[in-house]
Amino acid sequence: MKITKIDLLTVGGLDIISFTFCRVYTDAGIYGDGEVAGIHGSGHAAFAMLQDFAKYLIGKDPMKTELIWEDMFKTSFWGQNGGPAVFNAMSAYDIALWDIKGKYFNVPVSTLLGGASRDSIRCYASQLQDGWWPLDENGYSEPHTAITLAEIEQSCRQAVAEGYTCVKIDCLNYDANGVRPTRGMREQMLEPDYLNLFRKRIECVRKAIGPDVQLIVENHSRLDSFGACQIAEIAKDYNILYFEEPNTPSAYTAEYLKEKIDIPLAMGERIYTRWQYIPYLENRTLRIIQPDISNCGGYTETKKVCDMAHAYDVGVQIHTCGSPLSTHIALQLEAVIPNFAIHEHHSLLRNIKYPITKYNWQPQNGCLPVPTEPGIGNELTPKAWELAEAKMTIE
Ligand code: MG
Repeated sequence: MKITKIDLLTVGGLDIISFTFCRVYTDAGIYGDGEVAGIHGSGHAAFAMLQDFAKYLIGKDPMKTELIWEDMFKTSFWGQNGGPAVFNAMSAYDIALWDIKGKYFNVPVSTLLGGASRDSIRCYASQLQDGWWPLDENGYSEPHTAITLAEIEQSCRQAVAEGYTCVKIDCLNYDANGVRPTRGMREQMLEPDYLNLFRKRIECVRKAIGPDVQLIVENHSRLDSFGACQIAEIAKDYNILYFEEPNTPSAYTAEYLKEKIDIPLAMGERIYTRWQYIPYLENRTLRIIQPDISNCGGYTETKKVCDMAHAYDVGVQIHTCGSPLSTHIALQLEAVIPNFAIHEHHSLLRNIKYPITKYNWQPQNGCLPVPTEPGIGNELTPKAWELAEAKMTIE
C-alpha cells in the first residue's frame, strides 16, 4: 500500500474556533483522517508544517507507522524535542495512518493498540467557565460563558443533572466582567480582588455540585509559582481531585509546587514526546499526565508515554480540546491503557453548529462507549470541506 494524495483543511465557520485536519489517501482506496491540536495560536503554523511533511509522505507505505514517525522526527531537524507546530503535524499524520491501518484490518484502532480493556469510558465535564447549557435535539447549545455566580451555579447543576460525577473549571479564565485577563493581571502574584473572585467562584461550584462530585481546578499554565500557590491555598478547602497546569510546565517548577501544594498535580498538554516526560516521571511531581494525542506525537508516541507513566504509577487523562474527531481519537487509546483515569469532554463540543464530522458524541450519564467501527471510528464529512477557510490537495 502507498500514500498517493493528502488533503489539508482548516475549518472555520463554527462560531467558536478553527480546526485543522489532514486526510491521507492510499492506492488501496482507503483513507485516514487526522487532526492537529492547534486551535489556540498554532493552527496556521501546523497547516504549513503539514505541507512540509506531505512531500515526504507521498509514496510511503502507511502501515510503517514506527518508521515514518522516526523519519519525520529526525527530518524535522530542529523540531526534535517538541514544539506545537512540528508535533501537531506529525501527530495528525500519525493518527491518519493508524486510521488507515484500522480500516485495512477492519478493526478499531484500540484493537491494534492492545485491545479494549473496558467498554465504558467515564468522562468529566470540562471548562464549565465556558458555560454548560442544555443541548437541543441536535446536540447543540449556543456558546455562552458562565461569568456570574448564578451562571456558574446553573452550568454546574446542568452537568450534574446530565450524570457527570466529575467537573472542571478555570475560575480565573474570565474576570468579574467576563473579560479574559490580559498580561500582568493574572500571571504573577495575585491581588486580593482576584483571590476573592477565585474563592467566591470555587465555593459556588462546590456548593452547586455537592460533596460527592469530583472537582478539577484548571489554570491553563497562566500563573507563576507564587500565584499558583495562592490559588492552591484557597482551593484546598474544597476537596480538589487535581490541579491542572498551575503554572508554565517545567520539571523544575513542578518539583517546587509539589513541595508547596497539597493537591495532586496534573500537566501534559504542553509537554511533547517521551523525552520531555522523563523528568516529570523521575521527580514524581505529577499524579496524572495529560498528553494530547494530536500534539504529543500521535498514537505511536502517546502510547509509549502512557506506558512510561504506568511504570511510575502515574495515571493518564488524555487532553482533548478539538473537533468531535478528537473525542474518537482519544477514546481509542483510553479504552486500552491500564492507567487510564478519566476522559475529558470539552464544553466546545456542545457548540459545534455544523456536522463537520460523522459523529459528535455526547456522554450519556457521564460516560462514552468505546467506538467499534474500523479505524478511529469517526471521519470528516463533505461539510468540513464546504466550510474550510483554507484547503489544499498535495499529490
Ligand atoms: Mg488544560
